[in-house]
Amino acid sequence: MRSIGILTSGGDAPGMNACIRAVVRYALQKDMRVYGIEKGYEGLINGNIKEMDRRSVSDIIQRGGTVLKTARCKEFTTVEGMKKAAYNMKVFGVDGLVVIGGDGSFRGAKDLFDNFKVPSVGIPGTIDNDLAYTDYTLGFDTAVNTVLSAINNLRDTMTSHDLANIVEVMGRHCGDIALFAGLAGGAEIILIPEKKIPIDEICENLRVNQAKGKLSNIIILAEGAGNAEEIQETIIKETGIQIRTTRLGHIQRGGTPSMADRILAARLAVRAVDLLHADKEKTVNKVVGIKNNKIIDEDYADAFAKTNKGHEDLYNIAKILCS
Ligand code: ADP
Repeated sequence: MRSIGILTSGGDAPGMNACIRAVVRYALQKDMRVYGIEKGYEGLINGNIKEMDRRSVSDIIQRGGTVLKTARCKEFTTVEGMKKAAYNMKVFGVDGLVVIGGDGSFRGAKDLFDNFKVPSVGIPGTIDNDLAYTDYTLGFDTAVNTVLSAINNLRDTMTSHDLANIVEVMGRHCGDIALFAGLAGGAEIILIPEKKIPIDEICENLRVNQAKGKLSNIIILAEGAGNAEEIQETIIKETGIQIRTTRLGHIQRGGTPSMADRILAARLAVRAVDLLHADKEKTVNKVVGIKNNKIIDEDYADAFAKTNKGHEDLYNIAKILCS
């Protein structure tokens, strides 16, 4: 393949820009043409497609968000919408796509192939780390570090006042941000969707900590694991312990990407471009990822078939260390 398009879709994540830069520069070095598509699938449908050169990706490696912008595009989920997208690719002479996004964006890319034979490679870009086929997604490491920094700040003030705090973090149905930040930040209790803890047990843990003289507890709550206000109310009612709630929200999405995310971005970009470059039949229909520190690729269908990553080991370590 000699001409590719690149887009970012769904939620933005730190490291997307580093990845765009790596895709563009590596593909140019392989004598491919690269087109930047604005606002994900919406730009593909509307023809917001521009050729990129080395200069178009200058000074972006350190920036969060995505210079190509991102969007959620309902029209693309229809056959008519996909038809327009496939047509524009022909008009602009774009043979295949690099899609940086999450599960929804990958489903869109697979549908585009199934319906209109548009080849693509998906690069996992989401802070949630909710794609089971890969150990890590772009943006996850940075987001966890952002949460850690917030926990550090909260600890100072919570310890000074002997107060407890529920810190709600993002992750949709995945508990990885909470689990990794909880373990690394020394949270007393970690609540994730994969491991439901009954509220009675949470209250009992807090009572035990109180009896030990530990009054400043941090409960880290994944957004998919329960309602922070309800948990707070029940704890106050059942134990009398003073507890606050902090919802970190969108600050978790932004920020300059960490070293780990920038390196991952470069490694994933190289594999994605290599796959497209080698694809003479124009049939590539794959995602790239990282498993045991090796870059991998597999068909979209195989990636979708994988479910929970587990992380049982980390959860068990956290339980021992946090008590
Ligand atoms: P993410 O990629 O971060 O999971 P979304 O789930 O919002 O984000 O998906 C991004 C975009 O991908 C959607 O706005 C839509 O255009 C497209 N998309 C999502 N799911 C599908 C699907 N099942 N079929 C086709 N396109 C989809």
